[in-house]
Amino acid sequence: MDFDWPGSAEKARAEVRAWLDAVLPADWGGTGTIPTDELGAWTLEWRTQLSDGGWIGLEWPVEYGGRGLTEIDAIAVMEEFARAGVPSQGPNDAFSVGMLGNTLLALGTEEQKQHFLPRIISGEDVWCQGYSEPEAGSDLAGVKTRAVLDGDEWVLNGQKVWTSAGHLANWIFVLCRTDPEAPKHRGISFLLCPMDQPGVEVRPIEMLSGQSEFNEVFFTDARTSREHIVGQVNDGWRVAMALLGYERGKDAAVASLAFRAELDRLVALARDNGAIDDPLIRERLVRAHERVKIMRFMGYSQLTKFANGHAPGADAAITKIWWSEHHTVLTELAMDILGPEGLVPEGRRPSSAFRTDDWGAPNSSASWQSVFLNSRAGTIYAGTNEIQRNIIGEMILGLPKG
Ligand SMILES: Cc1cc2nc3c(=O)[nH]c(=O)nc-3n(C[C@H](O)[C@H](O)[C@H](O)COP(=O)(O)OP(=O)(O)OC[C@H]3O[C@@H](n4cnc5c(N)ncnc54)[C@H](O)[C@@H]3O)c2cc1C
Repeated sequence: MDFDWPGSAEKARAEVRAWLDAVLPADWGGTGTIPTDELGAWTLEWRTQLSDGGWIGLEWPVEYGGRGLTEIDAIAVMEEFARAGVPSQGPNDAFSVGMLGNTLLALGTEEQKQHFLPRIISGEDVWCQGYSEPEAGSDLAGVKTRAVLDGDEWVLNGQKVWTSAGHLANWIFVLCRTDPEAPKHRGISFLLCPMDQPGVEVRPIEMLSGQSEFNEVFFTDARTSREHIVGQVNDGWRVAMALLGYERGKDAAVASLAFRAELDRLVALARDNGAIDDPLIRERLVRAHERVKIMRFMGYSQLTKFANGHAPGADAAITKIWWSEHHTVLTELAMDILGPEGLVPEGRRPSSAFRTDDWGAPNSSASWQSVFLNSRAGTIYAGTNEIQRNIIGEMILGLPKG
């Protein structure tokens, strides 16, 4: 493990800090200080500032509108955004930039790169992920959404589910069955489909927390160009797996900063309401401190791999299990620290169901209750933790397939 950052990373850090100082108010306290109902509009405006400032597509080549940084310099920049309490991307960029954009860079045609990548950076095209279906989640190769060629267009029929931020997107990448006779992994294609058409219907799903961040998406004779396929016809499984590698990629290297800030906030709450006097609570806080420290070291280990030109690969499964299970345990502790107050949500709620509350959020009971309920989702999305354990067993430990 290497703890030293290259000189180029320090230079990139200095540049982003100077930019952040110029654009953020002097008394900036983090996005958690913005009322939740104003945050959606703020985030869209912030996304435009990021794009105008050249901070979207950090490692993408300059010819496609990116900043041309190395992976490790890009991570240094993301750390500075986290420290400043601002997002380093817009609400759908995990899909637009992190998943689809990176997949197009690796496997797209030159025309696709030239067409889509600049439009992703500018925010003109906003993407969501159409993988899961009612009967295809962990067993993703079971997708049934059909796509059939009709002249120069694909015609799509079927249903996707759990489509995060689908209501904010105007494009969806869809795993479709294009050869129902072939063995299930071989009859799938990876299509790019515009959502602004009568054949695509997005229906929001309400969650336990009362929020609505994901959706069902129905395709009824939806159409997309014959050219909007990544890889070859019936070669979509390979593309889908490459994309998942990006999904579980480098954000693990910076995630510990947000979990650290969240733990500090919980310690402050325990001090304020006197729960800190309970030795059992103190012990659980110490255990949480250890887990966050270990998460930081896991991040350094990933960084070292990037610095040596390796993608995280199967060991991203370890990091995913670690942060998501830490989060369920930590938020249970938060509910115990709050006591009966945790049953009565009051004050500011988080703006998003994903991971920690916004940076600088107040210690409200609504904040902790929402994060507690939402933390269960972390053990499911991006591949459930049982599936991650299968990956560790088979690909790292070399155990036989279950
Ligand atoms: C917050 C959130 C956001 C999401 N966003 C998206 C999105 O944007 N786009 C998208 O396409 N999908 C999305 N998903 C869906 C997600 O990818 C699936 O929920 C996940 O892959 C699990 O599939 P499933 O829900 O069908 O559960 P199932 O696959 O039915 O699994 C049920 C249970 O069985 C276990 N299980 C299944 N197979 C095995 C096995 N072989 N070995 C051991 N245990 C097994 C699972 O671990 C789980 O506990 C999201 C999910 C959540 C919670």
